[in-house]
Amino acid sequence: MSNHVFVLDTHKRRLNPVPPGKARLLLDQGKAAVFRRYPFTIILKEAYPDVPVQDLELKVDPGSRVTGIALKQGNKVIFAAELQHRGQQIKDVLLSRRQLRRGRRNRKTRYRQARFLNRTRPVGWLAPSLQHRVLTTLTWVRKFMRLAPISSIAQELVRFDLQLMQNPEISGVEYQQGELAGYECREYLLKKWSRKCAYCGAENAQLEVEHIQPRSKGGSDRVSNLTLACHPCNQSKGNQDVRDFLVDNPDLLNRILKQAKSPLKDAAAVNSTRWALFNALKETDLPVTSGTGGQTKFNRTRLNLPKAHWIDAACVGQVDSLQLLTAQPLLIAAKGHGTRQMCGTDKYGFPIRHRANQKTWFGFQTGDLVCAVVLSGKYAGRWTGRISVRSRPSFKLSGKQVFDVHPKYLEVIHRADGYSYGF
Ligand SMILES: [Zn+2]
Repeated sequence: MSNHVFVLDTHKRRLNPVPPGKARLLLDQGKAAVFRRYPFTIILKEAYPDVPVQDLELKVDPGSRVTGIALKQGNKVIFAAELQHRGQQIKDVLLSRRQLRRGRRNRKTRYRQARFLNRTRPVGWLAPSLQHRVLTTLTWVRKFMRLAPISSIAQELVRFDLQLMQNPEISGVEYQQGELAGYECREYLLKKWSRKCAYCGAENAQLEVEHIQPRSKGGSDRVSNLTLACHPCNQSKGNQDVRDFLVDNPDLLNRILKQAKSPLKDAAAVNSTRWALFNALKETDLPVTSGTGGQTKFNRTRLNLPKAHWIDAACVGQVDSLQLLTAQPLLIAAKGHGTRQMCGTDKYGFPIRHRANQKTWFGFQTGDLVCAVVLSGKYAGRWTGRISVRSRPSFKLSGKQVFDVHPKYLEVIHRADGYSYGF
């Protein structure tokens, strides 16, 4: 099962996406042509009798490394994608640029008084690596809006819903496994205890909700009596009083007791990037609804679905039932649009290359996805892959094999658009 195919009519108006088999039939019969390779879109060659388009819902689960995207028609998930961000690369190149400039200023200019503190940042400013997450997600939402009849958007906005927990530290939500409030509560604890085992500090362990004062010794189910522990710690603590368990480590005991009592501030739970994305999505003029992380997890567990970014996206917000008509998300990785650096350096900062004054050569650009038909020689055959433009007449083709190929053998499948695609 793979993604549905987007369909445009002769006036490039959006029609209902069709299953891949139907699309293949239309292409084989010559009734349609390929409009875009990624995401796969066909355009009809003849006018189509007016069929009412069915509204689609676009669902987004923004993550720090990968954002899940799902398109839903009623309760059917017909298209899924995972967008991989490049926040770390952006951070690295900005650091490298800063260091190069600092070094150059040190070498070439006189001393100047520090004046870096006299600048302010506008309200709502995000670091470039985070702003990139907002912008690329928005780009893809807009792309899908052009190709499919999307009428509403749902986004996972916050990790947990404080309203649902009704001031958890004071009134106390009864912690119950398997209920929505329970999932919100768990997300809340993950944030409050920084996703670490409270006793040993283990970070990447499976964390269990743990009663600080055990229930058998009169401890309550209130959030202020709950923490997170890894399985070994939870086991070795058993139903001991926390004061007995940590008798050798009074510092840790005090810290845990103090942190348990202090409620998580609202502000700490607000993720500025997600809010920026939410506000940006509202600019699309489509109705945008939001869900919580606890709700997403609750839906996914209740519907017995595996964990994947795109499945999480499909589970965002109010979901009664889900039918997955695809099992293969389109994997989109942000690759950037090259560099504007005029002078490249080696690792010592010594200039070794200068940029060419043109970006396209023989109609090709670095990053174009091409098909090469090589007639003779060692690499005779048909190849697809990305090209890197070189100043010698032949370009480097990276596909299953990496080799040089002359542009006369190349045909473009998908122009470089700053993303790479896979399944
Ligand atoms: Zn532990």
